[in-house]
Amino acid sequence: MNIKNNITNLRQTLPPGCRLVAVSKTQPLDKIQEAYASGQRDFGENRVQELTSKYEQLPQDITWHMIGHLQTNKVKYIAPFVSLIHSVDSPRLLEEIDHQAGKTGRVIDCLLQLHVAQEETKYGLTEEEARTLIASPAVRNYRHIRIQGLMGMGSLTDNTGQVRREFRSLKAFFDRLQQENLPPNTAMTILSMGMSSDYKIAIEEGSTMIRIGTSLFKTT
Ligand SMILES: *Cc1c(COP(=O)(O)O)cnc(C)c1O
Repeated sequence: MNIKNNITNLRQTLPPGCRLVAVSKTQPLDKIQEAYASGQRDFGENRVQELTSKYEQLPQDITWHMIGHLQTNKVKYIAPFVSLIHSVDSPRLLEEIDHQAGKTGRVIDCLLQLHVAQEETKYGLTEEEARTLIASPAVRNYRHIRIQGLMGMGSLTDNTGQVRREFRSLKAFFDRLQQENLPPNTAMTILSMGMSSDYKIAIEEGSTMIRIGTSLFKTT
């Protein structure tokens, strides 16, 4: 199996409306080029330095996703080009994204990362924190960000029932927000959930964007 086959096979299993982000962290440029040559355009990275360096060296029509924890002081490096930030987990970070996007004259699409897994170590907002953030008068007035939905990571466990419950509760929250009167810069259109180990469950539970690294870049 090569990367092209992996992508083709994966794409065939995706329902319409579910987008594939190829997670290229730690992958060398030639592997990413191979995925690009198969038509893949959405790529995700979890470190600012690696993201910036790959952006500079790879084709300009790649859509770059920031999927990892983002430090406020590093937003400025990716603001000029990043397409979607999946990992907004604090009001302070969102404020800085708005500020830096304004400086480059852009509007940056963002997802709020929700803490859905059991593990203590994972980043993310609680449902209540996410609601407070969306409803805050400051956020309402941001002109350079657009909150486009939610992101969540399931627990790293073999207990598929637990992972399914986590994704289901995130989807339920997403659906509830969708029914509400959201500010003009907020819409619930993207639900980013599912990685190599759990994307099938995530899709069954309503994911619209999966983030796949290991199983896409593996070659045998
Ligand atoms: C690494 C990573 C992925 C991809 O994980 P795989 O198991 O390699 O598919 C998805 N999302 C985030 C946030 C990641 O850091």
